[in-house]
Amino acid sequence: MAKKILKFGGTSVGSIERIQHVAKIIKKEHAANNEIIAVVSAMSGKTNELLKYSEDVSKNFDKRELDVLLSSGEQVTSALLAGALIELGIKAKSWLNWQIPILTEGDHSNARIINMNIVKINNFLSENGVVIIPGFQGISKEGNITTIGRGGSDATAVAVAKILNADSCEIYTDVDGVFSTDPNKIPLAKKIDKISYNEMLELSSLGAKVMQSSAVQTAMMYNIPLEVKSTFTDRVGTKIFDQENIDYTKSVTGVAYSKDDAKITLVGVKDKPGVAASIFEPLSKNNVNVDMVIQNISSDQKTTDLTFTVKRTDLSKAIELIKSNKKIEYLNMHHKDQVSKVSIVGAGMVSTPGITFKMFKGLAEEKINILAISTSEIKLSVIIDEDDTLNAVKKLHTVFNLD
Ligand code: ADP
Ligand code: ASP
Ligand code: MG
Repeated sequence: MAKKILKFGGTSVGSIERIQHVAKIIKKEHAANNEIIAVVSAMSGKTNELLKYSEDVSKNFDKRELDVLLSSGEQVTSALLAGALIELGIKAKSWLNWQIPILTEGDHSNARIINMNIVKINNFLSENGVVIIPGFQGISKEGNITTIGRGGSDATAVAVAKILNADSCEIYTDVDGVFSTDPNKIPLAKKIDKISYNEMLELSSLGAKVMQSSAVQTAMMYNIPLEVKSTFTDRVGTKIFDQENIDYTKSVTGVAYSKDDAKITLVGVKDKPGVAASIFEPLSKNNVNVDMVIQNISSDQKTTDLTFTVKRTDLSKAIELIKSNKKIEYLNMHHKDQVSKVSIVGAGMVSTPGITFKMFKGLAEEKINILAISTSEIKLSVIIDEDDTLNAVKKLHTVFNLD
């Protein structure tokens, strides 16, 4: 007998028929003598719809109330799935975050699960019941309902797997597994059979939303193997686990992209020691995270052009902070938010020379201009014009033999 966490994403529970289909998957797993804890998302599109309601009420909707609102989507699917299982003759029960309770720490909309009471759950499992837990939410020490970040049902599944000491954590979704890039955008994308935590963490942080990055981080920290697979086919999915067990034949494992960034360029900045610090200090003090930085020395050797990227949602705040910064002198400021970040990721990159050249050459062949660059051991990211995104992803996918 195995204790299994089965997480079903938004599309998987997107209609009554799909919820009934999920109930059948669970019935089969349960009949195979497994203990089942199902973690569910809201129906696809529901969380966005709720968010939109809040924005229609106020641009500054109260954060506590927003979490009460957003968590309701998962309440609906939890009850419907429990009901569907009961209809199939299976003993099943859902509990809301505060009934369990699932304890969280941190700000509204961005909390973290730190613990969970397991008594009710284990009792119900020992009575041969199927447990249904709503993803994406918890309750704070103060007793407020919290949510744990978009895509957070993945993180709930991993946290529950850890706390209940489960034998497996399976992420059921609308694609067959983790692909070399988004299969819904690039049909040539290939399914990856096995991938390391590190690579998956980079891919998801850089835009591959198939797994939420904080869920991967927790899985990596506690060495919880994950499996991503389809709710709608029986194909084998992708295993995510410790790097040592993977044999790397390819230097690049996947290509990811996101449209969350914006670029700022300061032209003609006085070039003297401390200038970068005086630009970035007020940004960091105001929680504006700077990601990539490029500095060019101008021909007169006295001024420099400085380009950097921030989150797109922070762009106006960053511009205001720079305009009001009396410590820096510059001639001009440009900014652009129609940019995207395209990244290649692969643990095999460490041991393969020439990756950077190959990437830049490929982009040059497509006449794609690189606006900023950043690297780490296992990833290389560039900022480019948003309009070039899919072209760049396609090209890199081919250049690195992923098609
Ligand atoms: P769920 O609702 O099940 O959590 P998500 O929509 O959050 O599903 O994630 C699945 C989606 O992630 C896929 O439909 C796909 O479009 C997208 N995606 C982006 N990058 C990748 C990738 N590298 N591999 C697989 N899917 C990806
Ligand atoms: N429903 C939440 C969201 O859309 C959580 C999830 O689906 O994982 O972000
Ligand atoms: Mg998701």
